Amino acid sequence: MAEQVPREMIAWFPKIDMEKCTGCSVCVDFCSHGVYKLNENMNKAEVYSPFECIVGCSNCVGQCPAEAVSFPSLEQCKEMIDRARAEMEKKGEGEKK
Ligand code: SF4
Ligand code: SF4
Repeated sequence: MAEQVPREMIAWFPKIDMEKCTGCSVCVDFCSHGVYKLNENMNKAEVYSPFECIVGCSNCVGQCPAEAVSFPSLEQCKEMIDRARAEMEKKGEGEKK
């Protein structure tokens, strides 16, 4: 389903609450897709490769001991995909003309 839409058109990736993040690196070690990176200067995690995050995955949320990680709802995710698909269709029609 989501494969038809370019990944960059779907804003599904984690958001880190910097106030809560303790820089423990659990998320960095947990995500095998390299989405997170530790900013050593700030001692906080950062979202380094947002579009490597798997659409619909939110497995790392429960790993964060500080409850600093959040995602959009699945409903918002579906809306993003629908919107992106509509945009693509519109663009495709424009190109046909
Ligand atoms: S697991 Fe949570 S507290 Fe630890 S670095 Fe990641 S976001 Fe920060
Ligand atoms: S949701 Fe999954 S893919 Fe995305 S950052 Fe978390 S563990 Fe990595």
